[in-house]
Amino acid sequence: MFKIFDFKKMFGIRHEKNLETYDLLSLRYTSVDPIKTAFRISMFYILIGSLWILLSDKAIEILVDDMKRVHMLQNYKGWIYILVTGGLLFLVIRNSLVKIQLVSNKLYRSYEELNLAYEELMDTKENLKNQFREIKSSKEALAESETRYELVVKGANDGIWDWDVKNDKMHISSQGRNILGYRDSELQLSIEIWKSLLHPEDKNDAIKTLDDYLNKQIGSYINIYRLKPSSEDYKWILSKGQAIWDKSGNPIRMAGSHTDITEQKRNEEKVLKLAYYDLITELPNRAMFEKQLYTQILKAKHFNEQCALLYFDLDDFKNVNDTLGHSYGDILLKMVSKEFRKYKKTGYTLARLGGDEFGLIVSEVKNIDQLHSLARMILDSLGKPWILNDEEFYISASIGIAVFPHHGENFETLLRNADTAMYCAKEAGKKGYKIYKEEMYTQKMEFINMKKSLRHGIKNKEFILNYQPIIDLKSGRIVGSEALIRWNHPEKGLISPIDFIHLAEKTGIIKKIGKLTLETACKQNKIWLERGHTSIKISINMSALEFKQRDLVKNIKEILQKTGLDSRYLVIEITENIALENLDHTIHVLNELKKMNIKIALDDFGTGYSSLNYLKKLPIDYLKLDKSFIDNVTIKSKDQVITKALIKLAHDIGLQVVAEGIETEQQYHYLKKINCDLGQGYFFDKPLSCGEFEEILTCHQGGFTHADGMPKS
Ligand code: C2E
Ligand code: CA
Ligand code: CA
Repeated sequence: MFKIFDFKKMFGIRHEKNLETYDLLSLRYTSVDPIKTAFRISMFYILIGSLWILLSDKAIEILVDDMKRVHMLQNYKGWIYILVTGGLLFLVIRNSLVKIQLVSNKLYRSYEELNLAYEELMDTKENLKNQFREIKSSKEALAESETRYELVVKGANDGIWDWDVKNDKMHISSQGRNILGYRDSELQLSIEIWKSLLHPEDKNDAIKTLDDYLNKQIGSYINIYRLKPSSEDYKWILSKGQAIWDKSGNPIRMAGSHTDITEQKRNEEKVLKLAYYDLITELPNRAMFEKQLYTQILKAKHFNEQCALLYFDLDDFKNVNDTLGHSYGDILLKMVSKEFRKYKKTGYTLARLGGDEFGLIVSEVKNIDQLHSLARMILDSLGKPWILNDEEFYISASIGIAVFPHHGENFETLLRNADTAMYCAKEAGKKGYKIYKEEMYTQKMEFINMKKSLRHGIKNKEFILNYQPIIDLKSGRIVGSEALIRWNHPEKGLISPIDFIHLAEKTGIIKKIGKLTLETACKQNKIWLERGHTSIKISINMSALEFKQRDLVKNIKEILQKTGLDSRYLVIEITENIALENLDHTIHVLNELKKMNIKIALDDFGTGYSSLNYLKKLPIDYLKLDKSFIDNVTIKSKDQVITKALIKLAHDIGLQVVAEGIETEQQYHYLKKINCDLGQGYFFDKPLSCGEFEEILTCHQGGFTHADGMPKS
């Protein structure tokens, strides 16, 4: 309702303070209506103006009579009117303008606020945009990484597993199932099922590794074990993973990967086999043996026990290789290792340590008797005939034994001492065993020094030849001599060939010695021939190693040429053992020598196989009956019968017989009586120096006469 006399409201006159705090909205609804306000002001002006004109003139006419004063008052009245209306107009205009100014200020402030709000809005929009972009790119990166992850997992052929530890639910990716050959529906995993699939040998370790990791609550999990697949053999699995634990340290969840490392494990096994096992016998090799002995020593130390090392070396295994070839040698090694395996109990280690050497670690040795009987059992078991290439073979071994801690506290010492003991067993005639003693080492060292001085001896020309006359028993004439070597050692004096020939053989020095002997003997015989002793032949002993030399025939030829000895004066003596080592080779070499007119004697007949069967096969000229027959030849004995029969047989196949070691007159007479062709022995003469031999040659030109006056025949 319009209030004409609400002057303040009508003109908007308010206290400044009020104006400032004036609410913009109330202004909008009450005052700021231009048409209404202008109308009210105009109506008020018209009313006041009209009333003034009507009433003021009337009042003046009533109150004042004087026209002059009337006119003057009317003037005043006009001025008052102008002043009052002017003042009122000022107030109205000022009030309106203040209101407008206020509104415009408010508007301006609102506008600024709006502007700020707008800017904030724009910022927020930009932020949102950025966030959106970030989310988008994160999503893309996630998708990309998921694809990459999938590819990697597929490419790496790994299976992924996830284990809800609390509820014991396991999930395994299809690739994981594929590794084990299960279809998706076939394998519902739980920890118990996983345990049941573990290989019995890996079970305890694998479970322990998992438990340890879960208890440790740190780091990552790595486990290697075999799992049972749906078919085939166990698969080797490399399992890697990571767990999370709750605040009390209980595992909540665990996830990781499964990699099939079966192939890698197989290759590792192959490499391990190559590095630690012998390919021929499939036994552990020396490296593995060393490891095992090391472990055994630690165990023995810990439990205060004894353990022993048995070192086997097959006797004369080289002969098998040389006679039958290496492939048969390998077969024999396999057969022997099979035999040895019978004596390998739990905790023992049997290994092939080299060529024909084997080692056995015996754990928890209670007493030395135990080792004695074990060694005897092993040696006896080797004593049976071995069939190889349809032939019967006899082999033996020598065993050396060293016991921890008495004979050494580490691998090197124990092995060295067992080897020394084995060496002494060989020296004692092979086919036996020895338990290590300190003095054995000294013996071995003596042998080693002997080898050194052998080499030295050759350089210093310490070897000399003796000649033992060979007599034609019928005529009593010296028809030849056997060259027998001696070592004139500067400190030890004359050393018999029995004491150094085997050493020279082992070290290979025999080749040099043989050459030297052959050359010296041929040269000497040539001299004697030239001096008129026209029927003298020279017999030279040949050892196995010399006879096996490829260039033997060539060497002999060269020496004959060099010395100028006619080959028909040369006799080569080989033992039946040498002849039989490789019969075909022997026959071949002997035929070559025969072609050169060289004579062959089969030495020591009767000490070895004494097989009559091969006598006819071998292209030989002389059969040398061993001294052991001759010793008993005069008394009624089997030897007498055999000697007689052998001489007859030899003659039947065109051989001449030489009796070795004739020591008595009776022997001489008897042998002569039973038609033995030739003889040698102390009865005639011991091996003589070259000068002595020449002397007796000259003395007995017409026939041999013994010093005790035995007349020539
Ligand atoms: P062997 O070939 O059987 O030589 C005969 C051996 O019997 C010689 O021994 C000789 O001294 C000995 N002896 C000869 N008559 C009698 C006798 O009446 N009574 C006794 N008790 N012994 C007699 P030695 O010289 O000690 O030679 C031993 C062996 O050494 C030889 O046996 C031979 O196998 C080997 N040997 C000797 N010299 C050489 C050589 O230059 N080269 C090779 N490879 N071996 C040799
Ligand atoms: Ca001989
Ligand atoms: Ca002999």
